[in-house]
Amino acid sequence: MEDCIFCKIVRGEIPAEKVYEDDNFIGILDANPKVEGHTLIIPKKHFKTLLDMPNSLGNEMTEGVKKISLKLIEDGKAEGFNLVANNFEVAGQIVPHVHFHIIPRKKGDGLKILA
Ligand code: AMP
Ligand code: ZN
Repeated sequence: MEDCIFCKIVRGEIPAEKVYEDDNFIGILDANPKVEGHTLIIPKKHFKTLLDMPNSLGNEMTEGVKKISLKLIEDGKAEGFNLVANNFEVAGQIVPHVHFHIIPRKKGDGLKILA
């Protein structure tokens, strides 16, 4: 997708803080983090929502989520985490290229994830 911001990041045309990469996914720090370490996991291929992404990528995506989350915990940036995916505009999806938010949580952080 020519104009998609996440496709541009995958192609290296605009900068991002990449914290993870495997064959089919990248992990980048969110440009407007809810907390330090707020990470997005993004497939390298363009799919609009989770409904468009083939199931065959599911295991690899889960593996990426687990590696990123475990590192956040090991680095002391998280004690737990929320995994959030906004699908379709009505659910708050702003970037129409499927992605999951990994949001680090700590005791007493007061974050309201869906508010
Ligand atoms: P949503 O589609 O609602 O999941 O929101 C898109 C998320 O992508 C927001 O949290 C933005 O802060 C984040 N975002 C948008 N553009 C960039 C970018 N160029 N680099 C990193 N994160 C971005
Ligand atoms: Zn895209």
